[in-house]
Amino acid sequence: MLLDIDISGLIPKHMENRGKLTLKENLKIIENILEQRKVPENGIDEEHIKLLLRILSFMDTDKDPNVIQIGEREARVYTKLQRESVFDFCHGVGRSGNLIDPQPKAPGASVMYKLTNKLLESFLKSLGLNVKAIATPVATGMTISLSLSASRKKYGSNVVIYPYAAHKSPIKATSFIGMRMRLVETVLDGDSVKVEVSDIEDAIRREINNKNNPVVLSTLTFFPPRESDNIEEIAKICGEYDIPHIINGAYAIQNFYYIDKIRKALRYRVDAIISSSDKNLFTPIGGGIVYTKDESFLKEISLTYPGRASANPIVNILISLLAIGTKNYIDLMKEQKECKKLLDELLNDLANKKGEKVLNVKNPISSCITTKKDPLDVAGKLYNLRVTGPRGVRKNDKFGTCYLGEYPYNYIVVNSAIGVKKEDIYKVIEKLSKVI
Ligand SMILES: *Cc1c(COP(=O)(O)O)cnc(C)c1O
Repeated sequence: MLLDIDISGLIPKHMENRGKLTLKENLKIIENILEQRKVPENGIDEEHIKLLLRILSFMDTDKDPNVIQIGEREARVYTKLQRESVFDFCHGVGRSGNLIDPQPKAPGASVMYKLTNKLLESFLKSLGLNVKAIATPVATGMTISLSLSASRKKYGSNVVIYPYAAHKSPIKATSFIGMRMRLVETVLDGDSVKVEVSDIEDAIRREINNKNNPVVLSTLTFFPPRESDNIEEIAKICGEYDIPHIINGAYAIQNFYYIDKIRKALRYRVDAIISSSDKNLFTPIGGGIVYTKDESFLKEISLTYPGRASANPIVNILISLLAIGTKNYIDLMKEQKECKKLLDELLNDLANKKGEKVLNVKNPISSCITTKKDPLDVAGKLYNLRVTGPRGVRKNDKFGTCYLGEYPYNYIVVNSAIGVKKEDIYKVIEKLSKVI
């Protein structure tokens, strides 16, 4: 029992019992989370989440009324506004040497972090992924940096083999830690832009022949026309050559198309998969999720993080997991899938009307429609029509298309990501029809 209070004699006994029963039932919700360490099937409400966070933050030493503080860092925070921004976990998480190590000044925050990681694991398990996981206090790109750095430390990796996908974060994640990147070029296959696994193998072989230690950074989630990398085949090859394999799965957790690919890849060499907390778990931007079957590699990633971190991104992940629950998340995944289907139907109608076409690229989240107009202009008009999210890409934009030659079409990308509503889809098509 979390709280055994003495209120005897203040009110009639039968009322006292009734009150204690209600309190007990409410506290039980929190106790269950602490005991079972699993994401509940049905999300729990904010008041219980708040109380759980309050109980944990009351365990941190800065809340000790008789504490004597003589360190250079004592979680002295000037305003309540600031306290609230970190849910009163003013000491943050981690120790300077290891992100996931318990912090002696902050037993409560340490429990909170450990609990979050356990919940993450149970959440991923409920989606079919049997992995170890940690929440990171930085977003996807920086979490990729941490993972690459861990690969360098553990395996002596000195070059990142990157099947070309035009996102600046993974490219900067590599330059940030001072590693060289070797791009593997994409090829055109119908409307799809993809990277041949044999070309990746070729790059691996060349680097090994040059006495280098490559690590492969593959991409699972991307805008069409770039297809997902074939992570299963890449994982097989990485196994054969005994080199590390890190997967950028920024928004992979929201759709079973990606989860199935991850499951298959996990049978071979996968050192870490990185996903975004905001793209998958409805948190504000700032957190990441790393998961793998290789627990020792997770530890290595945690060791690379320099210093302590803000508790905020971690708490946000915890709150989302508790508030959403597994059942509701699966429902949201279904809704995402239905919205994507609707998007494709409506986009096809629109394309027929306008003499355009929907690009034939397998993607469970995003679709592209061609345009004869300037796609940047179309995207600008959509922005002014208060639509956010679409990307307009010119066929000669080698970065945008992920293709180093000239792509056959100008196009607009529209996304149906988790959280989207059918209304959004109807409305974006209506706006698109005006400007395309
Ligand atoms: C969103 C995204 C990133 C970058 O994520 P941040 O969380 O902003 O660092 C990297 N790669 C891909 C494929 C993405 O979709």
